[in-house]
Amino acid sequence: MDIVKIDQPITSERIAEKISLTRATLRPDLTILTMMGILEARPKVGYFYSGKSLLSVMGSFIKNMSVMDIKSMPVIVSEDNTVYDSIVTMFLEDTGNIYVQNNGSLSGVVSRKDFIKVTLGNHDIKTLPVAMIMTRMPNIVCVEAHESVFDAAQKIIHHQVDSLPVVEKLEGEDGKFKIIGKVSKTTITRVMVNIGNE
Ligand code: ADP
Repeated sequence: MDIVKIDQPITSERIAEKISLTRATLRPDLTILTMMGILEARPKVGYFYSGKSLLSVMGSFIKNMSVMDIKSMPVIVSEDNTVYDSIVTMFLEDTGNIYVQNNGSLSGVVSRKDFIKVTLGNHDIKTLPVAMIMTRMPNIVCVEAHESVFDAAQKIIHHQVDSLPVVEKLEGEDGKFKIIGKVSKTTITRVMVNIGNE
């Protein structure tokens, strides 16, 4: 990148010469830098520096990646599930947030802290329905299919929650949403690990 910045436009032969490598050795690196939009290649002229930093390329990458490409499977229970059974489900499914639905539409979210809070009170958690302790609609922060990984990450940070249901509007039912996935802090961390591995 430094060589191209100084000597642009510059051919791959000349770059290779400058760092005593063959063109063939250099080719994969130039391909990656071109694909990432950091370098621009013009036939018969050579390489130009696009002016985009690695950070701005990463920025557009996460803004263009849809939540649909990274979403995970949510754990869903119904409103009449007891708090006790929902806690058991949380352990068995090894998750931190459970989504609650009623007649096929998202009605609530329960987290570890919600369960801890209810067990501190004088409740019979074996009969108490999860609907009594969940955070309910319309107070649930969600993402829809058209939103990006960056949008999801911003909402998670802004609203200080561990996950967001990925939802789809239910036709003809105002304010009702079908749950189609989940984006969590873990899902987004996995994206970072994948980018690192690439
Ligand atoms: P934890 O209990 O481990 O801190 P969260 O930060 O996800 O987990 O949950 C904190 C509170 O926010 C809980 O009361 C939970 O019901 C609620 N909550 C979790 N996810 C959402 C969401 N997407 N939208 C609105 N409220 C949420």
